Amino acid sequence: MTDTLLPTLADAATLLDGEPIAEVAPAARRTRQARVAWGSHVVTVGGDAPVRVQAMTNTDTVQVIETAIQVKELALAGSELVRITVNTPEAAAAVPHIRDQLDRMGIDVPLVGDFHYNGHRLLTEYPACAEALSKYRINPGNVGRGEKGDRQFAQMVEVACRYDKPVRIGVNWGSLDQELLKALMDANAKRSQPWELKQIMYEALVRSAIDSAQSARDVGLDPNQILLSCKMSAVQDLIAVYRGLARRCDYALHLGLTEAGMGTKGTVASAAALSVLLQEGIGDTIRVSLTPQPGEARTQEVVVALEILQSLGLRHFNPSVTACPGCGRTTSTVFQDLTKQIDDFLRSQMPVWRERFPGVEGMKVAVMGCIVNGPGESKHADIGISLPGTGEAPSAPVYIDGERVLTLRGDNIAGEFQAIVEQYIERRYGAATAAH
Ligand code: SF4
Repeated sequence: MTDTLLPTLADAATLLDGEPIAEVAPAARRTRQARVAWGSHVVTVGGDAPVRVQAMTNTDTVQVIETAIQVKELALAGSELVRITVNTPEAAAAVPHIRDQLDRMGIDVPLVGDFHYNGHRLLTEYPACAEALSKYRINPGNVGRGEKGDRQFAQMVEVACRYDKPVRIGVNWGSLDQELLKALMDANAKRSQPWELKQIMYEALVRSAIDSAQSARDVGLDPNQILLSCKMSAVQDLIAVYRGLARRCDYALHLGLTEAGMGTKGTVASAAALSVLLQEGIGDTIRVSLTPQPGEARTQEVVVALEILQSLGLRHFNPSVTACPGCGRTTSTVFQDLTKQIDDFLRSQMPVWRERFPGVEGMKVAVMGCIVNGPGESKHADIGISLPGTGEAPSAPVYIDGERVLTLRGDNIAGEFQAIVEQYIERRYGAATAAH
């Protein structure tokens, strides 16, 4: 390999003669669009809709108030669809009451029912439940075997057709259709060059989803009202399967790494898997399946999902705070404290600001620890502060829209900077509201 000699700066005429480095952005999505409706509200999924965030409760659905409160928390955190377990007659009977409670609390979020094994019975025997839910999740791996399974699957889809509900056909690695898997294994044994075992598993997942979607269409379900998912627990497997799924169908896809795990592991694994696929234009809704740490709020899975979409530039939910990691040039913790204070402040204000200051979610704030990258990064942000590193003069220049506008000194830099951020938001984003 030979090095390419770049022209020197003195050679201005030829400085930009090469190919520019291409910008990157997530590829466009090209799926059908489902309508998830309740009352007079509709959330569209797929097609030109933004990638939606979903979450799932971990309360006992029979506990109406407890479940409604958790749905509310998840919705306020940013979940646009919330799934609840519907596993018993008592749970099915509770569903309409949960919907009523949410309506009374003014929580505009659709409820998705998660059915396994007995969904055919619950949906047919509890019509109020079938009606109150806005979408059904069916796992084709556990609807029953053979003809009985086909009949039970059809029963659930008939209910979806009757009430015009979309259905997610959600295949899981852990509950794969064993008959289909056996048939594929038998077919593989007859091949002169058999596929790898993993490739057979991938094929079984994708086929189970697509064949079930065809069965649902045969029953009469509108193809736009079908969503698919093939969840797996290993990052590379998930990427492989979703690429295959996206190549073979145009249904809206729900994306998630199942059983991602707890804390940092679950967060990083989900971000790694989902980011690769979302960048390729694959995925119309996402869920981050985090196991909550003891005492951790269920809403953490929503926080992570929002951050994944915002990091990729797919959506903006909260102003972003750029902060340096700190190093030996700044031994003080001032910039850490200030970063946390500003971040907490912006997040806490967003439920109000979203209405009052349209566009504020796209704002960029920089909090930097010293002069090395502080001024440069602050100039790239809408508003930024460069704090003094060790040995630097005890002053903190503030930059607004790329210009240095003032310098803060003294003991209350944090408080003064927060006030400046508030004034900036009022001035820049308040104008849009005032004009209406
Ligand atoms: S901006 Fe300064 S303090 Fe922050 S990481 Fe860079 S060199 Fe270290």
